[in-house]
Amino acid sequence: MGWSRSDPPGFRIDRGLSHCVGPAYRVACLMRVLIENAAILTGPSGPFHPDGALLLDDSQIAWIGDAADRPEGPEPDRRMDLGRRVVIPGLINTHAHAGLSSHRGCCDDGDLFEWAGALAPHTSHLSVEDNRQSCHLAVMEMVRNGITTACDCTRFGAGVFADVATEIGMRSLSGALANSPEFRPTGRPNWPLALDETRAAMQRHADNALARFYLGAHSPYSCTPELVSEVKSAAERLSLPFVIHLAENRRESDITTERYGLSPTAWLGSLGVLDDTCILAHCVWMSDADLDLVAASGAGVSHNPASNAKLASGVAPVPTMRTRGIPVGLGTDSTLSNNALDLFQEMKFSVLLQRAISLDGFTMNAAAAFEMATTGGARVLGWDHAIGQLEAGYTADLVVLDLDHPLGRTRERVLSDVVYHAGPAAVHAVMVAGEIIYLDGEFTRIDAMSVTEAVHAHFQQDNEKGPAT
Ligand SMILES: [Zn+2]
Repeated sequence: MGWSRSDPPGFRIDRGLSHCVGPAYRVACLMRVLIENAAILTGPSGPFHPDGALLLDDSQIAWIGDAADRPEGPEPDRRMDLGRRVVIPGLINTHAHAGLSSHRGCCDDGDLFEWAGALAPHTSHLSVEDNRQSCHLAVMEMVRNGITTACDCTRFGAGVFADVATEIGMRSLSGALANSPEFRPTGRPNWPLALDETRAAMQRHADNALARFYLGAHSPYSCTPELVSEVKSAAERLSLPFVIHLAENRRESDITTERYGLSPTAWLGSLGVLDDTCILAHCVWMSDADLDLVAASGAGVSHNPASNAKLASGVAPVPTMRTRGIPVGLGTDSTLSNNALDLFQEMKFSVLLQRAISLDGFTMNAAAAFEMATTGGARVLGWDHAIGQLEAGYTADLVVLDLDHPLGRTRERVLSDVVYHAGPAAVHAVMVAGEIIYLDGEFTRIDAMSVTEAVHAHFQQDNEKGPAT
């Protein structure tokens, strides 16, 4: 990927594991923490340490391995005993629409276009404050589900997700998707406003290692070629990734073929915007030629299996993408199209759907699903130098799971359980950049109950008014 940003360490508020340090907040700087008594699955292709330990140097992993092999050195400042729980890398959600989260379940039927039409009266009038309120619910749900990084899309309020994710302690890639009113009559125009919002958010978060930004366009069917080119040029000027929904539904292919004589992917390629900074959401309706184009460009794909199935879009050709070396990550999409922000479900779905349509029980496997939820997602978001796996030099983004096995834990059993058996109920703790942000049902930076009550109170008035027309 063509952009990079260092993850500077520095001061942070760190509450720590309560049974290790007590409930008081403390300011930590370059603290050395030893995490021990844990079974560590370091990544989809990395080693498994049944009795593992992990040494943190502030937000970074300084050493990881079998506890017996821990090198001699000064006594750590703190120790965290995980009580033989399982540690995995933090899960990475490559596509979400957090700002719509309060409208979960208001429209559950129809294919993409029917659903979007039915949805518009509920969501097209939403304000930036509505977005902010919903983001709180979404980020809390993601963290409870072991998600440590998410790429979020909105129409208005490009930096709102970053603000909320940072408040709660989660890592984010945030931005807005521009659309053209002539192709999207229910959508208010949001360009160049999205550019201004993104610039302002970048300034606001200039010293924040947890927040990054992108510029994006909604889709080939809802944007003019001029708008897509303009957004991509702006992204290049600012060295930002470019996000777009692509080839999600069959009708989208019909629309671009009718308008331009090209598939959605070929059309994007003809505009010269396909490159290794692109994050392409969905990519369900892809010909061999389309896949060749994406593979040659270096672009990454966000695969959203549950959303694609619910909206009757189809099943993305993920095994072929992976064979061709296309980076593929998993995404939840929105709580309106899914309706859970749960990558455990997406991992399982990503295997089951491929087997159901191919009738091949060896298509995909747990390792492939886990790869998409961790290192694959990190590659798609251009963050693979820092997150996605647990290795010395990487940032300490990890999830602690209550996950036991009656026959004892091996690498294969842990991998199988993570993909096919585990769910949010197994999530005991979540750490981002060396800081515990969620522990045993409680957030360490916010009071979840009062935040949730405030969101409900905010939307109460909307409920009383009913959907806008
Ligand atoms: Zn989307």
